[in-house]
Amino acid sequence: MTADLAAWAEVDLQRLERNYRWLRQRAGVPVMAMVKANAYGHGLLPVATYLQNVADADWFGVATPAEGAALRDGGITRPILVIGGFWFGQEAEVVHGDLATTLPDPSYVAALERAAAAHDRVVSVHLEVDTGIGRLGLSEEQLLDTLAILKTCRHIRLDGLMTHFASADAPEHAEFTHDQMRRYARALQQVQAAGFTPRYTHLANSAGLHAFLPDAAGNLVRIGGLLYGIAGDALSPAFPPPPVQPVLSLHARILGLKTVPAGTPLGYGCTFITARRTRVATVPLGYGDGLHRIQSNRGWALVRGCKVPMLGRVSMDVTMLDVTDVPDVALGDIATFIGAQGEASISAEDYAAIMDTIALEATTALTARVPRRYRS
Ligand SMILES: *Cc1c(COP(=O)(O)O)cnc(C)c1O
Repeated sequence: MTADLAAWAEVDLQRLERNYRWLRQRAGVPVMAMVKANAYGHGLLPVATYLQNVADADWFGVATPAEGAALRDGGITRPILVIGGFWFGQEAEVVHGDLATTLPDPSYVAALERAAAAHDRVVSVHLEVDTGIGRLGLSEEQLLDTLAILKTCRHIRLDGLMTHFASADAPEHAEFTHDQMRRYARALQQVQAAGFTPRYTHLANSAGLHAFLPDAAGNLVRIGGLLYGIAGDALSPAFPPPPVQPVLSLHARILGLKTVPAGTPLGYGCTFITARRTRVATVPLGYGDGLHRIQSNRGWALVRGCKVPMLGRVSMDVTMLDVTDVPDVALGDIATFIGAQGEASISAEDYAAIMDTIALEATTALTARVPRRYRS
């Protein structure tokens, strides 16, 4: 463990493992660990490796063939599904990586069949049907077209049928979600009527697992947010919060500390002017790290267990904090932007709410400059 970092995100792998085991038990079916977008900012390979080797994770889900290839290059041997499919020219990456893929349009089938045939391999496909989110899933017509083409393919195996919920976190949309499940059941019948028996049937994301089990369980669930312990802002308020714990916290050390008189402007644009003699702490985290500029004059951090406000604009590399009221504040003290210090805490959900967004976006936005420190 490196003791000399000035800014870092801490990733608690034990909590990750506990969250995974709880999810596995709660779902009662295999869990696809969604590790797209750098494992929601937590770090693709360290997270996937730990989940595979320690938590015995069943499946991994990524958005792109490149993410899947990175998992394979890093030693992940469990099944991987590319939920975002591929663009023409990327079929070889899918075949080489032994990645399962979705097909967002019937026109991808022939390209995939050709690439698989060229390498004398059989590629696994999970079709996504659009039952209400309107995104990448196939319409009913596209599904039937795709099935017709798949019938002629000897190098593609239809292994899965999936759908994705639009609004499973909203109790007022419960009927809409039930409709999605009914549409999914119909699509499954059509697939079976066409002579296919997909081994995997999956619908639920975190919000679906939280509010719609067992109906939405299928025989596989695709979980991101809950795996990382993000449970506050994308789940139905109608059910008790699940017992998962946040995996990521975000910290930086006080790198500069000075006292300025009342009337002192601080930061770009002089958007903050001190109203009193103020102790100003400067910490090395800015929008270049994913601490978004919209936090300027709005956000908070914890220093010595006290919640302190940001002062002035967040700049690319540094942010200022008002530590006037923090007893014994000193150079090198840790400022926590996401996480806990003693009794005080700022959840990723709190941090995201300042920006009018959800915690998933906040952790995913952390850039490569922020070292991830893994604790296990
Ligand atoms: C990202 C994603 C998930 C996981 O969603 P969470 O809300 O993070 O659990 C599941 N399925 C699909 C298709 C996704 O894109």
